[in-house]
This record gives sequence, C-alpha cells and structure tokens, in this order.
Amino acid sequence: MEEDTATIQPSLLHLHFDSAVDGQYVLDPEGDVFIKVNPAMCELLGFTREQLVEARRPVSTLSIVHEADRDIVRAQRKSAEHPGDHGVMRFRIVRSDGALRHLEVRYALLNYMGRLVQVGSARDVSEQVKLESKLRNESEFNRELTLAAQRNAQEAQKKSLEVLEANTRVGALSEVLRAIPLLTKRLLELQDINDVFKQTALTMVNEAQFSSCAVLLRNEAGELEVKYANPFRTGGTAQVSERVKPVLEGREELAVDDDGTHNASIRAGAEVRGLLQVGLPKNLQRFYKGHKPIQQSIKDLVSTIADFLGVVIINHENLEHIKRQSRLDKLTGLYNRRVFEEQLSTEFRRALRYDRDLSLMIMDIDNFKKVNDTLGHQQGDKVLESIGYMLAGSFRDLDTVCRYGGEEICVIMPETVGQAARSKADQIRRKVAECDIPLLEKAGENMHVTVSIGVACVTKAVTNEDQLLRDADKALYAAKHNGKNQVQLAEDLPSSDPPANAK
Ligand code: GH3
Ligand code: MG
Ligand code: MG
Repeated sequence: MEEDTATIQPSLLHLHFDSAVDGQYVLDPEGDVFIKVNPAMCELLGFTREQLVEARRPVSTLSIVHEADRDIVRAQRKSAEHPGDHGVMRFRIVRSDGALRHLEVRYALLNYMGRLVQVGSARDVSEQVKLESKLRNESEFNRELTLAAQRNAQEAQKKSLEVLEANTRVGALSEVLRAIPLLTKRLLELQDINDVFKQTALTMVNEAQFSSCAVLLRNEAGELEVKYANPFRTGGTAQVSERVKPVLEGREELAVDDDGTHNASIRAGAEVRGLLQVGLPKNLQRFYKGHKPIQQSIKDLVSTIADFLGVVIINHENLEHIKRQSRLDKLTGLYNRRVFEEQLSTEFRRALRYDRDLSLMIMDIDNFKKVNDTLGHQQGDKVLESIGYMLAGSFRDLDTVCRYGGEEICVIMPETVGQAARSKADQIRRKVAECDIPLLEKAGENMHVTVSIGVACVTKAVTNEDQLLRDADKALYAAKHNGKNQVQLAEDLPSSDPPANAK
C-alpha cells in the first residue's frame, strides 16, 4: 500500500507538473541551469526541453533574461539563499524566436539532495504589463491634462483680474480726465480771479476726485500765499519741501512729494507765479505706485491744469489792465470823466440815503492858455502830467480824483464838508503852487502854476448831483473872478447869481 502510494504519488506529481497551465521549473541557481521544466515553461520561453535541460550544454537561465533585467534576477538570487526563502518577481525574457515577454515568477528555495534549488512557476504577464502601462500612461496623461487645465484656469483668472483692474484703472483715470474740460470751461467764464482759484480747488477735489488741491501764489513779499485750498485751510503762507524748490525756481515743471502730492509750477510767461498742489486722486491711489502710465498721466494732468491756470491769470491781468486803462486819463493818470460821473452819482446817492457828508472840489489851472501860447502845447501837457501825478498822491483812498476836461480837475470827497473841505482845498492849492514842473526846453529848470478851486458841499438844499456840480462851478468862477490862486466855498457865496462878467 505504501509502495502504491509511493509509486502513485510521484506519477501524480509528474502529471500535475507536466500538464500545468503555468510554466513550472526547478533550477539550479548556482549552476544557472534548469534542472526540470514542464512543456508550458518550454512554450513560455520558446526553447525545447532538449535545449533547456537535456543538452550537453543547456541554455543558461540568465541568458534568457532580458539584458536590462538581469540585475533584478541576480539580486534575487543573491538575497534568497536559504531554504524556505520565497518571493515574486517580474522581468522580461527574450525568447529563442527573439520575441519579448514579461514573466511573473513565483519561487521558493528548497534543499534537494544537499543542493539549494529554486522551484517556481512562471506566467506570461505581457498583456497585463501592457495594460498596466497603458493605464499608467493614461492616468499620467489625464493628470497632465488636469494640471494644464488648472494652469489655464489660473492664467485665465489672473488675466481676467488684470483686465478687471485695468478697467477700474481706466475708469478711475477717465473720471479724473472727464472733469478737466469741465474745469477749464468754468474757469474761462469767471470774472473774478479769486473765484478761479476757488473753482479750481473745488472741481479738482469734488469732481476730478483728487484728494486735495491748493493754489499757492507768490505775494509781493515773495512768500507763497494760499489763495484757496480744498479741503479748506485758512489762508496765510505755505512752506515747500526741498524737493519742490526747483519747481518754484523754474528749473523743474513738477515735483512729487513723498506722500504723492504733486507740485506743478504756475507760470505767467517765463515767470513762476506759484504752485498748484494736488494730492493723488482717491480712486487711483492703489494703482499709482506700480504703474508708470498712471503716474505719467497724473503728472501730465496736473501740469496741464497748472499751465492753464497760468494762462487764466495772465488773461485776467490783461483784462484788469484794460479795464483800468479805460477808467484812466492817459495824460494825467487820474480817473477820466466817465468814472467821475459814475462815482459822483454813487456817492451823492449814498450821502443822501445815509445822511453822510460829501463835498466836491473843482480846480482849474490859472492862465493855462498862456502856458500853451508861450511855452508850447507840449509844455502845457507837462504841466497837466505833473499836477496830475502830484494830486494822485495827495488824497485819501476814499476820495476820487478825476480829470474833468481840459485843465479842470474834480475831486469827490466823501465824509468831508465845510471848513474841513475848505482847508483840504487850500492845502492842495498851496501844493500846486509849490509843485516843481520841469521845463522841457531848459533841462534842470522848473516852472510853477497856480489853481483856483471851487468847493460845494451836500446840504439839504442840494437835491441832485448836477446841482452840486453847478454850485462847485459857480464857486470856481467866483475864485477866478476874485483874483485866481484861491479857494471859494459855494456856501460862502451870496445866494444871488455869480457876477455877470465871471467866466
Ligand atoms: P483861466 O485862468 O481863466 O482858467 O485862464 P485859462 O488860460 O486857463 O483859460 P481857459 O480855461 O479858457 O483855457 C483852457 C486852455 O487849456 C485851453 C486849451 O488850449 C488848454 N487845454 C485844454 N486841454 C489841454 C490839454 O490837454 N493839453 C494842453 N496843452 N492844453 C490844454
Ligand atoms: Mg478851464
Ligand atoms: Mg484855466
């Protein structure tokens, strides 16, 4: 029975070994040869049993392993050197027909008749490896795709943020720019230069969105005077930083302070009159630092407004000059007859309404015709010019000194009547007589003239300015009649008409 078993069992084992689907083998790791292979193994490797086992020089097991994988096999053989060691490994083989196969080998080490042998089974896993690699490649590819998609999405998000920011920037800048034509139009419509400064500061902040705006102009003492500031700060003078000094000196057009305040020179022709001081627009502050085009735009803008202010200032000055000229008499520099009439009317009404004092003085140069006749018309002009100049500086600001016509000069004197008016007139009479008038023909020599003066004061009896003028005229005639170079008060005249032979 035992014998049977002993005989049956090996034959069963043989049967199993030979008919197994997987390749089965026993190999001698040290000799690098197969000891036993089943048909499936021969099939797998593409060699005959003859070649692998029975030949006088069988095929070396390592030689079948793909060159690049031989180290895997060598390492396994080195590490598994005790009976019972077992494992799984994969490597490629090159079949006798040259085809490449992936094998998965499960092995164990046994002690067989004093030798260490490796028994194992091998399977062709080429398809599986191919599939795995395909899967790996696909997932790699998918991962790549995903990463690329993510990168694109991030890029797109960044771009859209940039576009958004650029839009905001452009929007903010255009808001600033939109206010400029508005400002220039407004400024051109204003009559008063102080309104120009005020409107500039208001529009730059309230409409153009600058955070602050001040117009600073040099006064006569050379200090920078605050003409208008928004946010409002009380007038007075301002100091500038070292950085801004070259702008005031005309060496630079614009300087930016550390806090972003732009200082642009306001020029009238070649002369720097002052500064336009502007804080960064509120809505552009966050773009300003890193953005050169924005910086340039703001600089250009502030410079343009400052230049425009310079032009407006010059225009106003010219206009003022023309206005003043149209009110002055060219020869004497005194006010002309138009101003006299306007002023007399104004002052007369004021005196009546508020019951204030008012007097009118008319003076006429004595024997002026003779000056013209003997010394020439030009010398006559010189007399008028000299007397005019002297008179202009001889009255209070309140008084209005006008050339009425020819060689007659009128002075409107508010808050003065009676003896005060007479003594003022007499003081003037003496001043005229003492006034040195250069002789054109004889350099260094002077001539002198005298005046007769008539004075009339507003009283209850005087009902209109024409009457006041007539009264003063009558007084003047009386002064002429009484011998010239004297003052006559209308109220001192006898109430009758002046003498018939008076002028
Ligand atoms: P009286 O003392 O009475 O005033 O004598 P008069 O010579 O001044 O006489 P009248 O007032 O008649 O003469 C005024 C003269 O003043 C006449 C005119 O030739 C002269 N005259 C008026 N305007 C000007 C002027 O702008 N320049 C010059 N050179 N002469 C003028
Ligand atoms: Mg006269
Ligand atoms: Mg005269």
